[in-house]
Amino acid sequence: MTRHDVVVIGGSLAGAVCVRQLERLGIDAVALERDTFPRRKVCGGFLSPGGVKCLEQLGLIDDIRGAGAVDICAARIAAGGQEIDLTFERTGLGISRTILDSLVARGARVEQGCAVNNVRREWEGFRVDGITCSVVIDASGKLSRFTKRRVVDEFGVQYLRSGSSGSVLDFSFFEDGYGGTVSIEGGRSNSCFLIKKDAVRRYLDREDCLVTGPLAYEAVRSDFIAIGDALGMLDPFCGEGMQHALETGMMAAAIVARGIRRCVRYEEMKSEYEAEYNRRWAVRRRVGAMIRRLVPYRGSFAFALRVTPAWLLNRMWD
Ligand SMILES: Cc1cc2nc3c(=O)[nH]c(=O)nc-3n(C[C@H](O)[C@H](O)[C@H](O)COP(=O)(O)OP(=O)(O)OC[C@H]3O[C@@H](n4cnc5c(N)ncnc54)[C@H](O)[C@@H]3O)c2cc1C
Repeated sequence: MTRHDVVVIGGSLAGAVCVRQLERLGIDAVALERDTFPRRKVCGGFLSPGGVKCLEQLGLIDDIRGAGAVDICAARIAAGGQEIDLTFERTGLGISRTILDSLVARGARVEQGCAVNNVRREWEGFRVDGITCSVVIDASGKLSRFTKRRVVDEFGVQYLRSGSSGSVLDFSFFEDGYGGTVSIEGGRSNSCFLIKKDAVRRYLDREDCLVTGPLAYEAVRSDFIAIGDALGMLDPFCGEGMQHALETGMMAAAIVARGIRRCVRYEEMKSEYEAEYNRRWAVRRRVGAMIRRLVPYRGSFAFALRVTPAWLLNRMWD
């Protein structure tokens, strides 16, 4: 029987960063990832300035720029017949998840092609399939089987186009939902939309179309420390989902490493993590939920965007 201090379920952004940081802090940890990288994944491909800061802290930013990530300096948002231009105070990046996820997992202990089927409590720890451990972290994303979440009738669709869209993130709100296009590595553009379930079939005949869903924003209950989307997605309009995954991965690693060294019980580590999470993310989550409720009213939404000062909009991505 194999044993590790920590098993992380999922080795995409949140999981790979978490295991990377745990190893750095001297903890024996492994992430088990169902997929094999590189692989495509539905995502807008816009890494917010706050996400760029996380990659700098992780020492990964040079690799990511070296792989061709594109500097994104501004957003053009179209809603309700109006267009709003926003210049970012700090640049974000355009990059595909094919490249980003591979680079974040590279060099970290992420065992690929390993789907976790069963987790159960055992004595003072857990058994994750055939592995025993003291701590389990759920990083298995918005469709996690291990954290109960409330799903909504929305799906994500994505396709790639040849040709760059420059350094501006193009975003629009329309009948079916909303989404946008951003330049990514290799002189291409990534288009991604969040749409209602009954609109999905209209997008399926597009060449290269990838679909994900249903989406889930709210976590109802988890027995585990959950990071990234497993905790509930942030509204993609905020463009902060990847930052949220990176930041919660780092945060959980710091708390768990400290807890293991001090022989703290799992429930105490979980409570400390949740308290810290709420301190850092509760307000941003509330803003995201408010924006989501406004989205169907495109006219009012455009008005709200126009009257919101640029510095406040910039805070959203920082
Ligand atoms: C339409 C759409 C557009 C978006 N656009 C943006 C954007 O432009 N910018 C942004 O910052 N965010 C965006 N997001 C959000 C962003 O994609 C997510 O927040 C981010 O992927 C979360 O990362 P994660 O590591 O938590 O989860 P994921 O990236 O979903 O990773 C979960 C991993 O767990 C693995 N897994 C699942 N089950 C198991 C299992 N049983 N065993 C082992 N492994 C398992 C999966 O294979 C997967 O690799 C968008 C989301 C959507 C839906």
